[in-house]
Amino acid sequence: MARIVMKFGGTSVADLDRILNVARHVKREVDAGHEVAVVVSAMSGKTNELVGWVQNMPKVAGSDAPFYDAREYDAVVASGEQVTSGLLAIALQSIGIHARSWQGWQIPLRTDTAHGAARIMDIDGSDLIKRMGQGQVAVVAGFQGIAADNRITTLGRGGSDTSAVALAAAVKADRCDIYTDVDGVYTTDPRIEPKARRLDKISFEEMLEMASLGSKVLQVRSVELAMVHKVRTFVRSSFTDPNAPGMGDFDNPPGTLICDEEEIVEQEVVTGIAFAKDEAQISLRRVADRPGVAAGIFGPMADANINVDMIVQNISEDGSRTDMTFTVPSGDVAKALAVLEKNRPQIGFDVVQHEAGMVKVSVIGIGMRSHAGVAATAFKALADKGINIRAITTSEIKISILIDGPYGELAVRTLHSVYGLDKQ
Ligand code: ADP
Ligand code: ASP
Ligand code: MG
Repeated sequence: MARIVMKFGGTSVADLDRILNVARHVKREVDAGHEVAVVVSAMSGKTNELVGWVQNMPKVAGSDAPFYDAREYDAVVASGEQVTSGLLAIALQSIGIHARSWQGWQIPLRTDTAHGAARIMDIDGSDLIKRMGQGQVAVVAGFQGIAADNRITTLGRGGSDTSAVALAAAVKADRCDIYTDVDGVYTTDPRIEPKARRLDKISFEEMLEMASLGSKVLQVRSVELAMVHKVRTFVRSSFTDPNAPGMGDFDNPPGTLICDEEEIVEQEVVTGIAFAKDEAQISLRRVADRPGVAAGIFGPMADANINVDMIVQNISEDGSRTDMTFTVPSGDVAKALAVLEKNRPQIGFDVVQHEAGMVKVSVIGIGMRSHAGVAATAFKALADKGINIRAITTSEIKISILIDGPYGELAVRTLHSVYGLDKQ
């Protein structure tokens, strides 16, 4: 007997039939004698709808704040998960399983007060452990928690993954299964490259890079938590027949295991290709080349909560003026330009140029630590296809390349093939 946390994403609970299907997956594990807690997302499309409603409301009268009250945003968008947790509990009861729904505040799952992107501070797992011991299946609403001011918070888009991994750590689960609409983590998004291969295992470090560089199959924070708390996390499909052979295999369920790199016997040089659409490039021309200028630009950006990513600074030709280029999400360009304009006197630049609709494509693999020439291969492959590179950043285990949006998918497929990742 083991303790398992099972998480089901939006497409897995998209309608009542799928919720009944999820109940059958849960029943399989309960019948095998395991203690089970389930984490659910909202029905697919629901959170987008809720976010849209909030965004279309008028601003607070007399306020110069650009946005609505983030606490009320959370009150609205957390509701999607409340619905699915209740529906799944009903579905489970209908097939004879003792189940009860739990909202974030009822557990409680405590977070900080960063509404809309809250971080989990603490989960009291004791009540859930007790109830699971009594044979009750806990159906937990993902994505939501409660802050010190007693208000509901949400964990950022895709946050149910994080709820699940955090809960698995809190109840000391033997496994956390993330059920989704693909049957594991692939070498790249299988919707973009049909030749993508499913990975049996991927290391925490690589999954962290994949997720932060655009592979939304797992929320970044969930991978961080799995790594820190050593949660055995599998990504697997809810669309496979719940009783298909092997689905109940405890040690080796079908899917991808996220694990320590020591567990991976045959390590490829490149493990996967990630990509992020809707990046924008901002260039400041003729910036003063003196100490403090980067702090003068990026400090105010951070204060305005703008996520600056690739940064390229040229060596100045004459020792006095240089160019500074960086990327931000396209949706943040207007805000970033306003911040730069406001701080123009302190920063001191000639002109600011910007362009949206870029794609960042990244090559990821821990094998890069010990292999030279990986970046050169990417540059040559892209050049052969006539794809121009706008900016490059590298770390020990990844290379990221910024290119024009229309070339994004071609670049992903080109790199996928050149590193031998295509399925045979
Ligand atoms: P859920 O609603 O279950 O949380 P998501 O849509 O958040 O599902 O994540 C699953 C999706 O992630 C897949 O449908 C797939 O298109 C996408 N994805 C992106 N990169 C990858 C990858 N490397 N491997 C598998 N899926 C990926
Ligand atoms: N429902 C939330 C979202 O769409 C959380 C999640 O699905 O993980 O972002
Ligand atoms: Mg998701």
